[in-house]
Amino acid sequence: MPKKTNGEKLSEKLTFACPNIAKAAPKDMKEAEKFCRGYKEFLDEAKTERECVTAAIKLLKKNGYTEFDAEEHYQPGDRVYYNNRGKNVILATIGEKPLSQGARFNIAHIDSPRLDLKPNPVYEQDELAYFKTHYYGGIRKYQWGVTPLAMHGVVMLKNGKKVEISLGERDTEPKFVISDLLPHLSARQNERPLKEGLKGEELNIIIGSLPYDEEEVKEPFKLHALKMLNDLYGITEADFLRAEIEMVPAAKACDLGVDRSLVGGYGQDDRVCAYTALMAAMDVKKPEYTTVTVLTEKEETGSPGNTGMQSRALEHFMADLCEGFSVKPRDMYRKSMCLSSDVNAAYDPTFPDVYEKRNSCFLNHGPVLTKYTGARGKNGSNDASAEFMYEVIRMMEEEKVYWQAGELGKVDEGGGGTIAVFMGNMDVDTVDLGVPVLAMHSPFEITAKLDVYYTYRAFKAFYK
Ligand code: MN
Ligand code: MN
Repeated sequence: MPKKTNGEKLSEKLTFACPNIAKAAPKDMKEAEKFCRGYKEFLDEAKTERECVTAAIKLLKKNGYTEFDAEEHYQPGDRVYYNNRGKNVILATIGEKPLSQGARFNIAHIDSPRLDLKPNPVYEQDELAYFKTHYYGGIRKYQWGVTPLAMHGVVMLKNGKKVEISLGERDTEPKFVISDLLPHLSARQNERPLKEGLKGEELNIIIGSLPYDEEEVKEPFKLHALKMLNDLYGITEADFLRAEIEMVPAAKACDLGVDRSLVGGYGQDDRVCAYTALMAAMDVKKPEYTTVTVLTEKEETGSPGNTGMQSRALEHFMADLCEGFSVKPRDMYRKSMCLSSDVNAAYDPTFPDVYEKRNSCFLNHGPVLTKYTGARGKNGSNDASAEFMYEVIRMMEEEKVYWQAGELGKVDEGGGGTIAVFMGNMDVDTVDLGVPVLAMHSPFEITAKLDVYYTYRAFKAFYK
């Protein structure tokens, strides 16, 4: 090695760059690869918030967590979970230090953009049977045509029985699709702005093409489809009014690239942070501070309702937990720290114009610490304090975690928010940390295995 020049030494001292992990620590790819095997399985098993909660609780039970009981006297190292209506789960490990010294919160969301069925979804038109949908969250509608879809959800029957539906995931099961025009006849559609490539009321899903064979029936194609659904699940048209059915991409998560360095799959925003948070929480068995991991839903529609982050569910759970230790919740919140674990937009070399390169996050550079989100002048953003940035960076660096800093795109290019603000409002120091994602909110999102693995490592450093 030639001797470093003064300029090189000074530059090392004064300048800063987040390294590409594949260059700085190429050996870590092996661990990342191993970690992501479980991650891909989780993506396939848990395509909706309900399925996420079910999968998470299965893992929690295996790892010594029991259902939270407000009357119970818990000791350091005890592990509990609270199932909020099957769509939101809170898990906690009691820390060595009293709750009056604060908890370590990690909040991630388990809902993803998708197409929900309307309350009255089944119809026929010109000899085809369809579902009407109402999209959920921010989607680019044109991306959802001509891609295989699967049907997931629950239906409450009139007799109070709950039917769970998952159709289109197995190779042997039928799938569903939204049609689009052929290029030969799309000259006029091509003139539409891209956001109207497919319009909301054109997101109609084909569910059948055979008629019920009887002259007297007015809508034989609709009836035939209803009969098939009734044969499978015992449901009727009226039951859709008591249902939550989500149409999601049927594709399985997989490796991408000849080097297998990337993961492709639906719903990685934000199940990638939910999975890494869950794994890290389960791995930290004797935390100094009580760890509380929240997997919430409805983030993509603003976190409303009793299972979203704006709900009091977490507050109530923490109140019960604190009461058991005779601690005032407000003393606990004031001293707590929170990672709002959500994805950020990875720099995309094909579309460089929307990014400000010096403040973007990149694939393979580790989890991205996002000080603030928002749009039009940081509007609605939590904007973490310098003091809290110091704490989180210190924790990651002490554990030799690779990480990077980033904003969401150029100033005034667009923007978005996360659930950080809701924890901030509860008097908790909060910052966003998560995985860089390409093609976010599309039916097939892209992450890098090294980033997924190092996000897990960052969460472990935080929980420890
Ligand atoms: Mn999102
Ligand atoms: Mn998200």
